[in-house]
Amino acid sequence: MRICQLASGSKGNAIYIESDTTRVLIDAGLSARELTRRLEGIGVAAHDLDAIIVGHEHRDHCLGAGPLCRRYALPLYCLPQTFAALPSIGEVDYCTLGAGERLNVGDVAVEAFPVTHDAVAPVGFVLNVGGVRVGIATDLGVVTRLVLERLQRCQVLVLETNHDEQMLHDDPYPWHLKQRVRGTHGHLSNHQAAELVQELLWPELKAVFMAHMSETNNTEKLARESMQCVLNAQACCTPRLIAGQVGVASESFSC
Ligand SMILES: [Zn+2]
Ligand SMILES: [Zn+2]
Repeated sequence: MRICQLASGSKGNAIYIESDTTRVLIDAGLSARELTRRLEGIGVAAHDLDAIIVGHEHRDHCLGAGPLCRRYALPLYCLPQTFAALPSIGEVDYCTLGAGERLNVGDVAVEAFPVTHDAVAPVGFVLNVGGVRVGIATDLGVVTRLVLERLQRCQVLVLETNHDEQMLHDDPYPWHLKQRVRGTHGHLSNHQAAELVQELLWPELKAVFMAHMSETNNTEKLARESMQCVLNAQACCTPRLIAGQVGVASESFSC
């Protein structure tokens, strides 16, 4: 399997995942043209995708979904509430995804689980890709018991490390925006993400993608330091830490 973060952050999110026979995109938050270009960059033709799966209706997760689905005749999977809220999605081949249900896209098993975020019905995902369990949660207001339970025993995690608490505090953002980011319907800080990883450590954890990093209130160095602190204090596993931001070359993990 291979997983590649094509884009990550408030300007757009897209994660490419492939098994031996199936290729899916989780979120399509850049233009169709840019996503096609980034897929080409990792040797994948957009028309070879099997599906696009969208976690919630914010622009940074769905911008290119409609155009990509139409251009390459791809099915779009998301919750019905999310589909109804997608901005100007147009005519697409829509497939229903239910929270808590498991469905197969080719040989990739996909399960969506609800998260708290300021969208109509936001979900994270757990995928089984050729026997590798991949957990994805990039817009989490707070780590609920359900989130913690669903993300257990993953070999690969894609988790948001959105902001550094001190940088957010010092930022000239209006107060209500800061509250939105750090509230229970916003995003996780580096520290909160590291605490989550601490709960999810197990000997088979191979990689942690640090996702949805703020461009103004975080740096890769700070996010890495928070994670490394947790990883250094244990001996059960040494997962690779992978960062990816909009405009930065994507990094892959294969196994
Ligand atoms: Zn969002
Ligand atoms: Zn987002």
